[in-house]
Amino acid sequence: MNVMDIFETMEYGPAPEAAAPGLDWIKAHQPFDLFINNRWTRPAGGQYMESINPGSGKTLARVAAANSADVDAAVAAARKAFTTWGKTPGHVRARYLYALARSIQKHSRLLAVLESLDNGKPIRETRDIDIPLVARHFYYHAGWAQLMETELAGYMPVGVVGQIIPWNFPLLMLAWKIAPALAMGNTVVLKPARYTPLSALKFAEIVKETGLPPGVVNIITGEASAAGEALVSHPDVNKIAFTGSTDVGRSIRRATAGSGKKLSLELGGKSPFLVFDDADLDSVVEGVVDAIWFNQGQVCCAGSRLLVQENVAEKLYSKLRARMEHLRVGEPLDKAIDIGAIVSPGQLKEIQRLVDQGVQEGATLWQPSWACPTEGYFFPPTLFTNVSPATTIAQVEIFGPVLVAMTFRTPSEAVELANNTRYGLAASVWSENINLALDIAPKLKAGSVWVNCTNLFDASSGFGGYRESGFGREGGKEGLYEYVKPAWESNEPEDVAPSDGHQPDATPQEAADEEVQVDGWLPAIDRTPKLFIGGKQARPDSGYSRGIYGPHKRLIGYVGEGNRKDIRNAVEAAHKAGGWASGTAHNRAQILYYIAENLAVREQEFASRISEQTGCVSKDARNEVQVAISRLFSYAAWTDKYEGRVHRPPLRGVVLAMPEPIGVIGMACPDDYPLLGFISLIAPAIAMGNTVVAIPSQQSPLSATDCYQVFETSDLPDGVINIVTGERDMLSRVLAEHDDVEAMWYFGPRDGSKMVELASAGNMKRTWVSYGRSRDWLAREQGEGEEFLREATQVKNIWIPYGE
Ligand code: NDP
Repeated sequence: MNVMDIFETMEYGPAPEAAAPGLDWIKAHQPFDLFINNRWTRPAGGQYMESINPGSGKTLARVAAANSADVDAAVAAARKAFTTWGKTPGHVRARYLYALARSIQKHSRLLAVLESLDNGKPIRETRDIDIPLVARHFYYHAGWAQLMETELAGYMPVGVVGQIIPWNFPLLMLAWKIAPALAMGNTVVLKPARYTPLSALKFAEIVKETGLPPGVVNIITGEASAAGEALVSHPDVNKIAFTGSTDVGRSIRRATAGSGKKLSLELGGKSPFLVFDDADLDSVVEGVVDAIWFNQGQVCCAGSRLLVQENVAEKLYSKLRARMEHLRVGEPLDKAIDIGAIVSPGQLKEIQRLVDQGVQEGATLWQPSWACPTEGYFFPPTLFTNVSPATTIAQVEIFGPVLVAMTFRTPSEAVELANNTRYGLAASVWSENINLALDIAPKLKAGSVWVNCTNLFDASSGFGGYRESGFGREGGKEGLYEYVKPAWESNEPEDVAPSDGHQPDATPQEAADEEVQVDGWLPAIDRTPKLFIGGKQARPDSGYSRGIYGPHKRLIGYVGEGNRKDIRNAVEAAHKAGGWASGTAHNRAQILYYIAENLAVREQEFASRISEQTGCVSKDARNEVQVAISRLFSYAAWTDKYEGRVHRPPLRGVVLAMPEPIGVIGMACPDDYPLLGFISLIAPAIAMGNTVVAIPSQQSPLSATDCYQVFETSDLPDGVINIVTGERDMLSRVLAEHDDVEAMWYFGPRDGSKMVELASAGNMKRTWVSYGRSRDWLAREQGEGEEFLREATQVKNIWIPYGE
């Protein structure tokens, strides 16, 4: 071939990265043992497993397979280390995190090579994206360690954290988990994915070199069924952080329910990539390449659903096909390839199965004319058109280089199609009209929205899902709260008293007093509150009432006995009131002030009701009403002040981190403080734009039902607050199981908390439960503030690059 031929064909030659440094390092270390207490430790069961190079299909390394005895040892080491690391000053922790970041940079090329060998991803991606982001994560969190004392005053580390990561970004997922955990003073036991343990083991070596105290970071390789499950169920682990499939996330939710472990889940997605007809289609094509062919499409936030405005669809498809024809699939260590190998034969088979199903379901398949290498596990870039929105390939996460395309006509149809999935991880919006893009972005149910860009990540901007894509955020300030708890929670939980309304009998003297009848006495006019649904007082479907007893078993009234059907009606009404979120914050504040004003007018009446139900003296009852009024004022104030942040990641552009309402929140209110407990929960929820289905205190619901008239006279739109009285745990279960309820708050006993966490796994709704720990609702530190606002919101990060 002469120069002229080369010029004619413009064929790429290979540009191989040397594998030798990675292979030599493996050879010198294998078989790899477990990293516990800064020591390489033989697995208790003596078992090892193989790690394969997906680019060749050949064995790369032998790695220890931990069992539950090893998990016990790692957790014990982390627990011991926590006693000192948890108290180590922020500045010292910052120095360690900084040292880790520097060390990662020093070993960056070796890490990049190991990652490509073990995972099959192109060296261009590991070298230029994964590893720099890993270092950035440690630098960024060194900063938070330094600032924790002032910026997270009143919070403490949660303790020992179990972390389970997937194979698609092995070292990056490790960084996303370990950096914030250490910054906030926790110690960790991390289990890498079975297919990709090597970069984590190199990281363990870095930990040792850096001189991190023993036990702060422990890495245990092994199978999910032995090491993973043992870590999740370990009683001495205080938090689980997981990234992986929605099915496993759901099983972890169920396994940890009621244990009191904090949990964050970053799960699957089927993210939309919306293209409007005024978009720059050549940029769109490059965007699609980055959205679905980056990392072979094995990306939780891959833009796997291309939604195109109908009038430009054919034009875009033909540009895409031309670009796909020139993509290069092959040896991951070749710097001239675009797409590397699929992680395992099993994953390759699953992709092929779903692609075959797409064809059977009638979609049109297009793949480039060239063939993939036959050695190793490769799959060509694939485009499906003529896809119907309800088919499997439009709904299921394929986790491979497979794009499914659909069309829309109008912006509202685009939003509807985009949100037509159980997931909500990310979305991209492409339009040259910034007004349109910024109108669409907030309407998409997704934790990250990229405007005219895609798959951008940075430590400063939180990442995580809505709906069945999980809960919790990684990165940004919001991500730190996953690794801390309020300092006052360090007291052991005490189960709140059983709330069956049972009270001791009256003393003989009291009984005698009750029999005294005054001359001219008239029976009181009956006032039996109904339920409050859609702004109307509704009779309970059951037709039954429940007696409410004050101290000494004295009957003081009745409330409606709510059932499953009433809850369903309330949820429907709460959904219909969804417009509440799109109104202005100023308007929400006005209504909260108005509720406070109307409550103040009836202060004496509410105070008497509290005394009647709880037996407290009138001074305390009046104080409860006054604190409730003050709390309404606080959240009225917060409506337009809990506003999010603007991040400036290292790109030309900004990221708007916007706290958004979650949607419909179900809540079981505490028994203590019947009015204040109720107001303390509904006020932050509605201040942030949510609508609510509340189950008032089971024991003392009359303060909440007395609020109907306050709400009715305060311009509160119908359905924003719905109240169903009755048996707390039965009604809570219905709410927790309801697929149209997006979050569930539960303030009651420990077993009820467990029930709520278990029942919520169906649609992976966010839960906030008390595990039987009672709060001092009068104290501002425990009864109001940012903890409540955070639970009432989820952060959406909107990425807006600028410049020509
Ligand atoms: P999994 O969710 O099974 O695995 C993720 C991690 O969890 C791995 O470390 C795995 O260990 C571990 N694990 C699995 N089951 C349990 C368990 N019961 N208890 C504790 N730990 C457990 O993902 P897969 O690797 O099996 O991939 C399957 C599908 O999941 C993919 O096709 C893709 O659709 C999705 N996925 C999504 C990811 C995301 O980022 N959202 C990442 C990876 C996969 P081990 O490796 O030993 O099995």
